[in-house]
Amino acid sequence: MTQIIRHILLLSCLFFYGYAQETKLREDSLVSLIYIQKITGAEKVKTMIALARLKKEADYVDAKIIAEKAIEEAGNLKQPSLRAEAYNVMAEIEDMHSHLDSAIHYYERAIQLYDPRKDQLNLAKALNLKGIVHESKGQYVKSYQSYIYALRIYDELNDEIGICNEYLNIGLIHQYNEEYKQARTYFNQSLAMARKIGHTEGIAAALNNLGIYYKEQNKLREAYDCFKQVLDIDYKQGNESNIATSLNNLGTINSDMGKEELALELYYKSARIKKKLKDQESLSNTYNNIATSLFKLQRINEAEIYLKDAESIGKQYNLPSILEETYNGLYEVEYSRKNYKQALEYHLKFQQIKDSIQTNENNTAIHDLENQYKLDKANAEIALKNTELENGAVLRISFIIIIVLLVLISLYFLYTVQHTNKLSRALNKRNDDLMKAKENAEQATTAKTQFLSVMSHEIRTPLNAIIGIANLLNEDLKNEAHKENINVLRIASQNLLLLINDLLDLNKLEVGKMEAANAQLNVRKVVDTIKEMFAVSASQKGIELKLEFDYHIPTALMGDETKLNQAITNLVSNAIKFTEKGFVEIRVKLEESKADSSTILFAVTDTGIGIPADKQQTIFESFAQVSTDTNRKYGGTGLGLSISQKLIDVMGGTLQVKSDLLKGSEFSFSLTFLHNQTDYQKPAIEVNTDSSLFEGKSILIADDNAVNIFVLKQFLKKWGITIVEVENGLEAFKMMYKHSFDMVLMDVQMPIKDGIDATIDIRNAGKEWSAVPIIAITASHEDEVRVKIKACGMNDFIIKPFMPSDLLEKLSKYL
Ligand code: ADP
Repeated sequence: MTQIIRHILLLSCLFFYGYAQETKLREDSLVSLIYIQKITGAEKVKTMIALARLKKEADYVDAKIIAEKAIEEAGNLKQPSLRAEAYNVMAEIEDMHSHLDSAIHYYERAIQLYDPRKDQLNLAKALNLKGIVHESKGQYVKSYQSYIYALRIYDELNDEIGICNEYLNIGLIHQYNEEYKQARTYFNQSLAMARKIGHTEGIAAALNNLGIYYKEQNKLREAYDCFKQVLDIDYKQGNESNIATSLNNLGTINSDMGKEELALELYYKSARIKKKLKDQESLSNTYNNIATSLFKLQRINEAEIYLKDAESIGKQYNLPSILEETYNGLYEVEYSRKNYKQALEYHLKFQQIKDSIQTNENNTAIHDLENQYKLDKANAEIALKNTELENGAVLRISFIIIIVLLVLISLYFLYTVQHTNKLSRALNKRNDDLMKAKENAEQATTAKTQFLSVMSHEIRTPLNAIIGIANLLNEDLKNEAHKENINVLRIASQNLLLLINDLLDLNKLEVGKMEAANAQLNVRKVVDTIKEMFAVSASQKGIELKLEFDYHIPTALMGDETKLNQAITNLVSNAIKFTEKGFVEIRVKLEESKADSSTILFAVTDTGIGIPADKQQTIFESFAQVSTDTNRKYGGTGLGLSISQKLIDVMGGTLQVKSDLLKGSEFSFSLTFLHNQTDYQKPAIEVNTDSSLFEGKSILIADDNAVNIFVLKQFLKKWGITIVEVENGLEAFKMMYKHSFDMVLMDVQMPIKDGIDATIDIRNAGKEWSAVPIIAITASHEDEVRVKIKACGMNDFIIKPFMPSDLLEKLSKYL
């Protein structure tokens, strides 16, 4: 019966829609609003609600005016349920136009007004929608509460489709909270329920969510099965848009499995459908995916073509999230071609889009104001037209009102039927967005890391020349005034180098690449060295530098000496920098002693300028300083504390601060170290620094950078060493046959053949020179590079820019 009524309503709707079009009624919403004002009571409010709902997507301002009037009239009628419905539609309008706070506000009003006994279904729907808005705002606790409440109502009503949807929603919240087990349970429950009632769209939605869950868990086989089942459903239902989405999803799984060829086939199919449907945004997303797979297959030129296509769609339809990914892809393409300039340009574009996405979010406030202004203007117009029409033909108006009413009621019914379907589509879309956002974030991090390591390499090479030549001049110059100038140059360039190192460390710590070493550690030695290092700068400022060391601390511990040293050094350097008089004290105390481990408290106290209470948390953020003056007065970059905090974090502690303004500060942290059971003392390598011992030795330098060779040569020549220089790894290898060398200094990155491959060739040549000491000269601070250096058979490495003492140390060790 209801089917028949719907059918009739649909027909009458279509018929009257034609009529209404003829009278231009739908176009002129202001007029239609006034017609509505000619009927009264609950009917009028219901009609207004339906009209507002009809207009909510296409005409924000009109829809809002109508909803506002409906709220007002329902208030006059003293019918809370009706008023609640009016609030609800207002919330839907705000929600649709991304005014999320406002949407929440109106949903809440509606929820308060619905009668929990009479309006249960509406109440559950409003709760569900409110939950979705909270979710988009990242307010997961609130959205969880709304969903649970809605679920309870659907349960009471035995509304199984509602229950299916809420299970999915609740599962998603668990997934956001990384509570994967619970997420999976809810998705499975939703799937079971959907299967039980034969709710095909529900089955597809649940399988999709499970697919994403498995993909995130890296359970690719399971993810594949889920997406495959969804695809089968899509084919059965013949919904081309869903088919295209599922093909794309299956493609990503294949790509994750490393089956790029298969992934490409699926992507191409998906792209063909999307092209036919003219679904540009989705098409450009698939183009990006195609490019990723092609790139992985080293088909760089083809990847570029797809990226360019995605770029042109992204630009034409203004799709920042697509462009973000596209530019990142183009960056990778140019980077792989070693076109660093182009790569940098794309990286900047990528960064710009990323920033603009964030600013767009801030601009919603401006849009709100604009809309408010339009609302006021429209209200004034209504008042005017109202008086004009007051004298118009009442008969004509009444006739048209009936038409409008019928159209609206029919559409309202249609809306209700489609509502549930829409919800599950919305869920699918959110899943897609979630997946895209996650991939974007991962790509952005990789791009940043790569970019930083390229730039640091590029900066280090010229810096190497500056520091090297400054060191040379410093040794050679006799004129004291010139020597002083050179010293300033040396210190400035070394500071620059420190900054670059800091940036790199921070980068590594941020991407979680750094792990604490577990080697022999003598805490006393670490703090003694630090005290010695700062003795001069403290005494120059007239500050006493004290060390209070607890002698119960065992000498043989296991830990990361370098990280501990760097963390404390940063704190002591700050303490001295920000203290004008009084003292700086390093305190090291045994907090807890167990059979196999000791917990030690480290504290650095000063009597300096102190830190205001409201800044005591922010100073730990990167680039944060207490005031804008700080840099001018004291220098620094605002990175030290952030690095220390992360280093301490990696070692298993937490950096804390206590400070009184103008009285001083104390930074402290506790770390637990295991006892070194073997107590093995590695014999210290005796470094012979007598350079005269190198007289007559012969060294091969392989480096493609003329400045590097120049700097190296200056030192080596001074020490009486004979040098042969070559430009790449291949020449180095050939040269080994011609001369006999005592050592090879090998650059790692070189054209034609790099240092790693050249070393492998030398070691595998089976000649007597195959065992020659090979020292890498590298600008890279990356642990991976160091691992490679060791793995290929090099003996050691020197980090560029190097100090003469570094070079001397390696020469005495291996010559
Ligand atoms: P930087 O010292 O390079 O500015 P940090 O991250 O080490 O960067 O410190 C951040 C900010 O915290 C400093 O700029 C300074 O304002 C404040 N700060 C750090 N240590 C102290 C200290 N011992 N006394 C006073 N202020 C400090």
